[in-house]
Amino acid sequence: MIRLLLMTIALAGCGSRAQPNAMLHGEWSAPVAPFRVVGNIYYVGARNIASYLIATPEGHILIDTGTREMESVIRDNIARLGFSLADVKILLNSHAHYDHVQGHAAVVRASNALVLVMHEDAAAVRTGVDLSPLADEGWEPVRVDRELVDGDTVTLGDTTLTAIRAPGHTPGCTVWTTTAREPDRTYAVVFYGCMRPNNDVKLAGNTRFPHLVEETRETFRRMRALAPDIYLLNHPEDEFAGKQIALAEEVRPHPLADPAAWPKLLDEIEAEFEAQLKRQR
Ligand SMILES: [Zn+2]
Repeated sequence: MIRLLLMTIALAGCGSRAQPNAMLHGEWSAPVAPFRVVGNIYYVGARNIASYLIATPEGHILIDTGTREMESVIRDNIARLGFSLADVKILLNSHAHYDHVQGHAAVVRASNALVLVMHEDAAAVRTGVDLSPLADEGWEPVRVDRELVDGDTVTLGDTTLTAIRAPGHTPGCTVWTTTAREPDRTYAVVFYGCMRPNNDVKLAGNTRFPHLVEETRETFRRMRALAPDIYLLNHPEDEFAGKQIALAEEVRPHPLADPAAWPKLLDEIEAEFEAQLKRQR
């Protein structure tokens, strides 16, 4: 029950008018120490807004750039790990909401990284306007170098990520999957930032998004086909809570590795979605 409540709060904060945006620009964007999550995946984000660096010998991939306040957080965290923001070659995102793409323009200026976006979120990223059902605050327009479709792969060095289109939260919401390798084992990793539409979004009968309910349910079905050892959220404070020391010290068995956690998470979010739908009827 406590976990369900925490999840609800975390999602509500994801670009929602139900939460003051000041909180996302403020405490959620506050600096925290970076750490290696697993394999070549590093956490370089802020207190409760993620940015993940995937380091390869050919340069780096960055997933999400957070709010505008996180520009220095991400740059400094990458440097603290011994890497450089200038070596980011590919910039990806979970979805086109301000708390995940507002730093894109600054990262592109610092790195000249290629910006890859799922087709259905590309117009939003390019224009700086939140075109999702939420229609919240915008960001500086960003050039999009490649539009993705469901199932596309992105490879840099020894790492390949697969893009799964997961509409509902935004039309082009993207779940990224990859394999993280460590000397003793490999981990199936899912970057999950596409839970359900925000709380104040009209679900059934939404004239701008007439298929929102069906699309969201289809996304849940597709998510259940995944079997990650580790999932990583884009508002990860609750997921990391109590595990920061074990994560920082790279304790194994891995503190986040739990194949049973994924179906449980989906159960919780799907129940929240159905409750949201019921409340609106
Ligand atoms: Zn969002």
